[in-house]
Amino acid sequence: MTTFSELNLAPPLLKALAEQGYETPTPIQAQSIPYLLQGRDLLGLAQTGTGKTAAFALPILNHLHAHPKVAGPKKPRVLVLAPTRELVSQISDSFKAYARHMKFTQAVVFGGVGQGRQVEAMRRGVDVLVAAPGRLLDLIGQGFIDLSGLEVLVLDEADRMLDMGFVRDIRRIMTFLPPKRQTLLFSATMPRSIADLANSLLHDPAKVEVTPPSSTVDRIQQAVMFVDGTDKRDALLTLVESPKVARAVVFTLMKHEANKVAEFLNKNNVVAEAIHGNKSQGARERAMSGFRTGSVKVLVATDIAARGIDVDDVSHVFNYDLPNVPESYVHRIGRTARAGRDGWAVSFCDPEQRAWLRDIEKTIGKPIPVVRDHPWHSESAEASTMRPPVLGGGGRGRGGPPRGGNGGGGGRGRGGPPRGGNGGGGRPGGGGRSGGGASAGRGRAF
Ligand code: AMP
Repeated sequence: MTTFSELNLAPPLLKALAEQGYETPTPIQAQSIPYLLQGRDLLGLAQTGTGKTAAFALPILNHLHAHPKVAGPKKPRVLVLAPTRELVSQISDSFKAYARHMKFTQAVVFGGVGQGRQVEAMRRGVDVLVAAPGRLLDLIGQGFIDLSGLEVLVLDEADRMLDMGFVRDIRRIMTFLPPKRQTLLFSATMPRSIADLANSLLHDPAKVEVTPPSSTVDRIQQAVMFVDGTDKRDALLTLVESPKVARAVVFTLMKHEANKVAEFLNKNNVVAEAIHGNKSQGARERAMSGFRTGSVKVLVATDIAARGIDVDDVSHVFNYDLPNVPESYVHRIGRTARAGRDGWAVSFCDPEQRAWLRDIEKTIGKPIPVVRDHPWHSESAEASTMRPPVLGGGGRGRGGPPRGGNGGGGGRGRGGPPRGGNGGGGRPGGGGRSGGGASAGRGRAF
């Protein structure tokens, strides 16, 4: 087995890694670091949770350590581009942790906050700049950042950046880069658009692929519950009240729904915070830090806001809404079962989202076990042939009426969680809860 010292990393880095408790490199680290230390370009197919941040941060820091140079004002030596401010902050924290025993300067740049401190940091000169594309372009435009001295460029979560509409920003940023540089591109998926971007940016890249989504998915115990839209809140509340749920991330499609779900949970004495693009940076940071320390049990998030959630002991992911993009399912459930732990991913599927479930199962290459023995089970959701809603265009497209088939005999899905059997119907004092069946009570093993 490879060790970090066999990878020839500099002593201050090895010391920091030992302090972090990292004993052996993860597969993406073991495969990427040797290429990167040779100065090769790299195309990495890996999602979060695989250790990819250290896979690029360590060789970059090793390079800075081996070639010390004072970074000129406005001229970073290394640029890491990432889609969201949360991810930018986390990458920056990782750099700081690994570089704690060496000299090193860095700055972060993202929107939603004043630019004063970011500009000031750049004026002093930094080795590593971690940035979200929009604000970076802004500051380049205003003359506060000059990329002409760049030695290393990293595009992290490139597929997300394209999904979020940053392709033009990225192309513009590329026009400011020097031709001679080392370029790394990481992406969880490899659609055509990413392959094209990689072709235009990378020079003879080494290609590294770690365990495509399925390996993470394998450690996650997945379940789907067919429910009607109106029952989702009660079902969620009952599930998150289980003592087995230590920390949960709940995904909704819409920001307003995230707010409503968080509000509902709080009203029912489950501490929850919503994070999404309409929240201020301060509010998001407070929510994240509460979640990390445990004072917030449930984080309710939309897909984009959730990109940066990097908390190791999320015990459960609940898909309050299924995602309309199958890859997002893989990203979402990857928030749990991190760092070698187990995790649960429980999805609600209502009649309108039935077709999305089929797409997701096609993408992950296997059916998700169905749990039917709960008070909210909806046969019409399970048998639904509705066309899924059209998102973004306002209208919710509808196909034919739901069929009322009997859902195939009601057997428990493979691997479904055991019954909790607490026999309790509505919660005491739970006001206005519907359902009230027996088996999905608080003792349930989700
Ligand atoms: P990432 O995929 O970069 O988001 O990393 C996922 C998690 O794994 C982070 O919490 C890292 O701190 C942790 N991690 C990264 N590399 C290692 C390693 N070699 N050993 C143990 N934990 C690691």
